Amino acid sequence: MNTKYVFVTGGVASSLGKGIVAASLAKLLQARGLRVTIQKFDPYINIDPGTLNPYEHGECYVTEDGAETDLDLGHYERFLGVHMSKANNVTTGKIYNTVITKEREGAYLGKTVQIVPHITDEIKRRMLLLGRTGQYDVVITEVGGTVGDMESQPFVEAMRQLQWELPEEDFLSIHLTLIPYLKAAKELKTKPTQHSVQELQSAGVHPDIIVCRTEKPLTPELRKKIALFCNVRPGHVIQSIDAWSIYQVPLNMHEEHLDELAVRKLEIENFTQPDLGRWKEFLERLRHPKCEVNVALVGKYVELQDAYKSIQEAIVHAGAANDCKVNVKTIHSEQVSEENVAEMLAGMDGILVAPGFGERGIPGKIAAVRHARENGIPFFGICLGMQMAVVEFARDVLGYADAASTEMNPGTTHPVIDLMEEQKTTTVKGGTMRLGAYACQLKPGTLASRIYGQPVVQERHRHRYEFNDVYRTAFEQAGMVFSGTNPDTGLVEIVEIPSHPFFIGTQFHPEFKSTPETPQPIFAAFVKAALDKKQEQ
Ligand code: GLN
Repeated sequence: MNTKYVFVTGGVASSLGKGIVAASLAKLLQARGLRVTIQKFDPYINIDPGTLNPYEHGECYVTEDGAETDLDLGHYERFLGVHMSKANNVTTGKIYNTVITKEREGAYLGKTVQIVPHITDEIKRRMLLLGRTGQYDVVITEVGGTVGDMESQPFVEAMRQLQWELPEEDFLSIHLTLIPYLKAAKELKTKPTQHSVQELQSAGVHPDIIVCRTEKPLTPELRKKIALFCNVRPGHVIQSIDAWSIYQVPLNMHEEHLDELAVRKLEIENFTQPDLGRWKEFLERLRHPKCEVNVALVGKYVELQDAYKSIQEAIVHAGAANDCKVNVKTIHSEQVSEENVAEMLAGMDGILVAPGFGERGIPGKIAAVRHARENGIPFFGICLGMQMAVVEFARDVLGYADAASTEMNPGTTHPVIDLMEEQKTTTVKGGTMRLGAYACQLKPGTLASRIYGQPVVQERHRHRYEFNDVYRTAFEQAGMVFSGTNPDTGLVEIVEIPSHPFFIGTQFHPEFKSTPETPQPIFAAFVKAALDKKQEQ
């Protein structure tokens, strides 16, 4: 069978959940026994979102091979349970970078380099790249942005060309739109969808399937109307109704026959019905929790829902694993102080201090760590959260009053967190952190080793600073245990305090590897510890 290419575009508005629909279709096809991957093409000029402030674009998701990517890749991994790579996220910046580099090398032999064909050829090359590896039966491409945006035009044009260059049965185009409900008129409105499809068609791309995001069910009449005005069959208009969980969407899409329509159009033969047993089991647990806990997420980007996406999702997976609903209270670290911390964190069964960069909100993070440490409240620090746990311990237990990370205070007399050696000469910002998966060796008998139940694990990193090894013995003598280290470099990866019921900090980001079907062990143990804490009260 040839590799099949599915393209997902969006219209009317952004944030319709294109990534979730793409991931849901991928999940369904995978559950039918097909080898599936998803890639995202983003129209912005940044080479990758690594240099973007989380307020701009939400979390930056890190892959095993160290790519800093769009957060939709996190959804792809969580739904599919397979690793994405550098090749799965392409931006306009990357495309232009390649073309301009080639031009400087003289590769265009004196030709005028233009959007069509040079930019579009490079887009097409990348759209087909993963398919050409022979590793996949289906490659789903999500085109970021909204059809009609000036910046997405080259992507849509590349799609248009592929629509004719690929065999008809290897190409499928899905368009996701919004059907707004007007309360005053008590009516669902199809006009924006008609316009959006017109826009797509005027670019020469014909949608095979229209997925309508809606708050209310679409009536058969409405589906017929959309089909009539948008040039598709009535059965090819499907609804994506607001779901109680994003993880319910694959099942909703299956009920709407999205996967069946896809395999038909793509002429995929001998397909089986999707086997979603484990997925459904997870949903069952998620839907019917037996208990509840409150967990604080202390960070400085809390205003934006997507800034800690993978952490939020990892908590959901960990909750389901414990048959427990986890109420996450996001707390702005800038609003926390030593004076108000007890009040701000009252009623919390667990405290998670989030990753981050820069000075803002640091005193609040340190106050939150201290509150957790002194009151025996389960604590989990991730990356900057772990670093602040180290700083807090240095200040309060070791008595180093001005202990700090040199990121916040370069002049400190106790640089307990310091720049990594290889970072000291780095001036370029993009893609230069310690990125991607590294091995972490666990010390037998520690909390970390009990949690993972294996001697060496691989976890993903994204940071420039690390624990300063000069202080190792002082910390150990005062009761902090370094339970995870990099076997090659000796870098500290996990810290814990054994005299505390549950106090753990990781230099890496375990949230990137959590999926509904394989919840991340530290998150699961953290929720369990929060539950124990609650029950003992
Ligand atoms: N700012 C810290 C560093 O660069 C932590 C980064 C993070 O939390 N991802 O080391």
